[in-house]
Amino acid sequence: MPTLAEVLARATREGELYGVLPDGRLECYACGHRCPLPDGAVGVCKVRVNEGGRLRVPWGYVGGVQCDPIEKKPFFHAYPGARAYSFGMLGCDLHCGYCQNWVTSQTLRDPAAVAPPIRTTPADLVRDALRLEARVMVSTYNEPLITSEWAVAIFKEAKAAGLITGYVSNGNGTPEVLEYLRPWVDLFKVDLKSFDDRRYRELGGRLAPILDTIRRLHAMGFWVEIVTLLVPGFNDSRDEITRLTSFIAGVSPDIPWHVTAFHGDYKMLGPDNTTADMLLSAADIGRTNGLRHVYAGNLPGQVGGLEDTRCASCGELLVARYGYHIRDYRLTAEGRCPSCAAAVPGRWGAGFEGQIASRPFRTRIQNSGLLKNSGLLKSEFRILK
Ligand code: SF4
Repeated sequence: MPTLAEVLARATREGELYGVLPDGRLECYACGHRCPLPDGAVGVCKVRVNEGGRLRVPWGYVGGVQCDPIEKKPFFHAYPGARAYSFGMLGCDLHCGYCQNWVTSQTLRDPAAVAPPIRTTPADLVRDALRLEARVMVSTYNEPLITSEWAVAIFKEAKAAGLITGYVSNGNGTPEVLEYLRPWVDLFKVDLKSFDDRRYRELGGRLAPILDTIRRLHAMGFWVEIVTLLVPGFNDSRDEITRLTSFIAGVSPDIPWHVTAFHGDYKMLGPDNTTADMLLSAADIGRTNGLRHVYAGNLPGQVGGLEDTRCASCGELLVARYGYHIRDYRLTAEGRCPSCAAAVPGRWGAGFEGQIASRPFRTRIQNSGLLKNSGLLKSEFRILK
């Protein structure tokens, strides 16, 4: 009986995001770790490996797939109400103690994290997305940067079918991976988890590559939204939120910033849950520092107007929300304020096409028995990492 690691090792092909160092090791540049890999070595993410001088990377499966409202990603300035067909693979380059997707992200690192891979193809995923009337396809649930070759294969088919594409990422990128993604990815959400390098090192990363990625994403023309999960005692000091929001405003005051409420998850069960007042205080700092579109998330109905989009020029209500639900939509067909005609930053459709579902739901891929047919049922491999 194979181990999960052995099963995943078979679901690979040669990657494109690597080079050869002068000493013969491979350098992977799919993420900011830039792992130097001697023959046989596996990267920090546990899913990319140097096999005989070639980098093998994940291919041909998903670890999870679901149809979400685009507001769940969250994108608030991109096609409100659209269905986002969301898929992920397995593994991550970080190991955040509060990860809400730890079952898929920490596979091969944490013996308790077991998500059976579901074999599929880009064509199958795109066909399923179209059948469900999704407008957007998003790579999420694990860290998409580390599985970028597979995401691009899917997005090439998605774009040919007229779909919008997006990444939900921790932002630990490199210039090379961003150039690789630029033709195929439209929307990019970055988790800016802290503005303290020591905190990032606790999570397994560094602050500098994330800040560099945010600057580059904006300069390269991706549509960027940023999320900060506000964790009491971890990243919520007034000083840290001031520096964090000043940085975003310095890149562009038009970048939407979502400050969202923490609740205990995975290994971080100690801190209290974030209250609405804490979110409102952080949001206030963000606005004071010049951010024009600040949202408070994860506490629907408890944060005043901070779920809504307003015109930054005249204050007119543009999109009213409750959680993921769009209650009103008032932008013009050109993406302008109906009151003062100011252009609203974002990616807008010609009109609001309604919201078919404001809740996530499972897809045909998950329900179709592909998992059973794949030979990768959970009971069919040993959980050894
Ligand atoms: S994706 Fe990141 S963690 Fe994984 S091998 Fe490449 S550089 Fe290392």
